[in-house]
Amino acid sequence: MGQALLNDEYEPAADRQRLAALDRYDVLDTGREEAFDRIARLIKLTLGVEVGIVSLMDAHRQWYKAVDGFSTDEVPLQSAFCRYLLADPTPIVVPDARLDDRFRDNPYVTGDPHVRFYAGAPLTTSDGFHIGSVCAIDSAARHFGPRERAILTELAHVAMNELELRRLASTDALTGVSSRRAFKDEAGKFVALARRHRSALSCIAFDLDHFKSVNDTYGHAAGDQVLSAVSQLVTGQLRRTDLFGRLGGEEFAVLLPHTDQHRAHEAAEKLRTAIRTLKIPGSHPPIAVGVSLGVATLDPVGDDIDSLLQKADEALYAAKRAGRNRSALWQPSNTVMQTERRRVLKAGRIIFMNRHAVTDCTVRSLWENGAELALSSTLDIPDTFDLQIRSDGAEWPCQVTGRTEQRLIVSFT
Ligand code: GH3
Ligand code: MG
Ligand code: MG
Repeated sequence: MGQALLNDEYEPAADRQRLAALDRYDVLDTGREEAFDRIARLIKLTLGVEVGIVSLMDAHRQWYKAVDGFSTDEVPLQSAFCRYLLADPTPIVVPDARLDDRFRDNPYVTGDPHVRFYAGAPLTTSDGFHIGSVCAIDSAARHFGPRERAILTELAHVAMNELELRRLASTDALTGVSSRRAFKDEAGKFVALARRHRSALSCIAFDLDHFKSVNDTYGHAAGDQVLSAVSQLVTGQLRRTDLFGRLGGEEFAVLLPHTDQHRAHEAAEKLRTAIRTLKIPGSHPPIAVGVSLGVATLDPVGDDIDSLLQKADEALYAAKRAGRNRSALWQPSNTVMQTERRRVLKAGRIIFMNRHAVTDCTVRSLWENGAELALSSTLDIPDTFDLQIRSDGAEWPCQVTGRTEQRLIVSFT
């Protein structure tokens, strides 16, 4: 069971800004990318250590964007060496963790992988927020001089530059379709035009079903192949005037100018069927993927690109809940509860056992009477608890309504 992490002098306001800065990069839980893998390899090669890591830290975990030499992709923040960089960004060097009060009782020191040596440097945004780290780890104690320290600091800058480039890019590197940013910029112009001319405009948001298990079964490289194949297939199905973008992970959106809800629904069904019949060469058994789609049509009076995407996303969420592999239309009537559903990145604390137990979590969505929480393990969390969001100065009694290994859906009681 987790203890509340970070020192209590940790400032909720600073925390909120730091997480907002991290959110801008839209990188959490995205797939492997060569540029970051290369940095992890370089840490190993140049510093002669066993493990090189490029990581991002949200409110409850250190998540590895790239890792070489270690077979996990996240650790709870409370046991992450790098969490000290959030409070003090001076690079940390721990020649022998057994001799360091901060780390001698750390589970990764007392148990597998028996960390002895650690060095970490922060990933700092241009406006000064520490959102992640690069680190070097070894199971043998060692010396780390000014030269090594300088190398690690340079590699932290390289990693941060990569994140910055990725954020600014208009084309997604894996699939070749528009990035989230480019899609939203371009879509915003279409929305303005449609509002001015009172012409129909619809949006389809889609997300591959159970994609995690595709990665788990066939490997991440095969997962990447599926994402490329889906992108290619969808591009081929669309009209030249349609916009298509990868919003993040395995989530995409299509904007359909001069298209009413009925036509957009037809287009969504066409995409669903096409993706369903997709065969990825080279995998045995062949990979089949399902997709859930949400369709929304612009309200020329009330909608901008954000609210249009939000509606499509709500419909997509409804399609998931209805059983996946289907498309759903946004409906004002059945989304009363969800209209306030917002994607967020906030630090939360789950408080239970008469306030004797506290576990950190990251709040990923919030709506009027509920929230979606990410945490390292939901195993010890009871069905009722209090959720504290310190940056909002709020606390709610919660009832769990949905649960996976690392996610909780709760309603406020
Ligand atoms: P659901 O039907 O609810 O959407 O289930 P899911 O497993 O698809 O949903 P979830 O959001 O839990 O998992 C999405 C997964 O997509 C997690 C992540 O590892 C994977 N993923 C995200 N980006 C990439 C990528 O660029 N490449 C690969 N191979 N996998 C990715
Ligand atoms: Mg999915
Ligand atoms: Mg998803």
